[in-house]
Amino acid sequence: MTTVTRFAPSPTGRLHVGNIRTALHNWMLARKHGGTFLLRIDDTDAERSREEYVEAIRTDLAWLGMVPDDEERQSERLAKYDRAFEALRDAGRVYPCYETQQELELKRKIRLGRGLPPIYDRGALELSDEDRAAKEADGIAPHWRFKLDHDEQIGWDDGVRGTQKFDPAQLSDPVVRRADNSWLYMLPSAVDDLDMGVTHVLRGEDHVSNTAVQIQMFTALIAAQHNAQQIPAFAHEALLVGKEGKLSKRLGSLGCDAFRERGIEPSAIVALLARLGTSLPVEPIADRAALLETFDLTTFGRAPARFEDTELERINAAIVHQMDFAEVADRLPVGMDEAGWHAIRPNLSHVPEAADWWRLVTGPIEQPDFSAEDRDYLAEAAGLLEWGDDPWTALTGRLKEATGRKGKALFLPLRQALTGMDHGPDMGELLPLIGKDEARARLLGQS
Ligand code: GLU
Repeated sequence: MTTVTRFAPSPTGRLHVGNIRTALHNWMLARKHGGTFLLRIDDTDAERSREEYVEAIRTDLAWLGMVPDDEERQSERLAKYDRAFEALRDAGRVYPCYETQQELELKRKIRLGRGLPPIYDRGALELSDEDRAAKEADGIAPHWRFKLDHDEQIGWDDGVRGTQKFDPAQLSDPVVRRADNSWLYMLPSAVDDLDMGVTHVLRGEDHVSNTAVQIQMFTALIAAQHNAQQIPAFAHEALLVGKEGKLSKRLGSLGCDAFRERGIEPSAIVALLARLGTSLPVEPIADRAALLETFDLTTFGRAPARFEDTELERINAAIVHQMDFAEVADRLPVGMDEAGWHAIRPNLSHVPEAADWWRLVTGPIEQPDFSAEDRDYLAEAAGLLEWGDDPWTALTGRLKEATGRKGKALFLPLRQALTGMDHGPDMGELLPLIGKDEARARLLGQS
């Protein structure tokens, strides 16, 4: 059976790092098994869904290198939900309810006061045809609940959490459709997962109790619609938390734009999120195939996965240090060639910093104030400068012999005169890029 996974965001905002992680794991699960990765836009909520967010989701996934094999939109599938709903209604698995929010709240409080679980009491099931007709004559339109089968214990073997069991009698019959006929998330999602042949539902552990209910929905839909569809396998990953160990607001708003602005490479995000919260080490692996090789839900832990910026920065720098010129060429300053990239790359934490470092080559640079002794030393260096294969080794070798200087006294004034800095790229690589005339001018303080 081909693996089919889906990433199902609601386009009510930008993707944040938690969604990106879920998308990535679904993408990886599908790719690892040569399967299909679907993007399903959960846009049944017409009021809160925005086209700009649909666009942004596509752009972000493309930037991250997770292009879906197919895209579906719930807003274009409403007729299917209607049909499924009618089949469930005819089978007695959805029923109309007329309580107001206030009534429900009161019932909840009463149950809590009696020490009962605050679940829906199924009051609407007691209504007679006349009661319902009277409500509707009063202009009260019903909302609809899915009727859980209390005799059918719920269980599944979760890909991350292991055996899961739920007693349906402890759960509320969920509302699936509002009085204005609009949909809540649960039923359309179950209809789609069956219809699209989704084999694995991989999502955050905040959906565990939804899964319990949806498993009964799947069974009821298959029975009511007499089809041969299969219930998917489920896996719920532990949530992503911030440094403080809590679900942070910051993480909820941290998305691709912010990463891009900070000069974070998509492959750094992927390398980190692929393994964060698993028993595998987080490493700067830019090669997707290598990441896919080790991807395995059984390595996922139950404890919250801790997202730390310092770790992302570490992975990013290490990935930048491995990047080939061809990968970054169009993001480098004009004139910076392959040799320039190689000289400067080890100093970068982020690719955009290349422009600052490249100024060491193109100038102008600002030199420190040298002592008279160092000035003489640098003038001597200018005289000894010769241009061969490796001018830096040649120059420092000659200077060492001529002046008796060594170590810092030998190298630092040269670096300072040539770059204006105390540290930076390898001078052996940098000096040829600066060029002979410019190097001489800098050594003489005439640049
Ligand atoms: N649209 C739902 C959400 O974003 C999808 C959940 C799911 O993966 O089923 O929470």
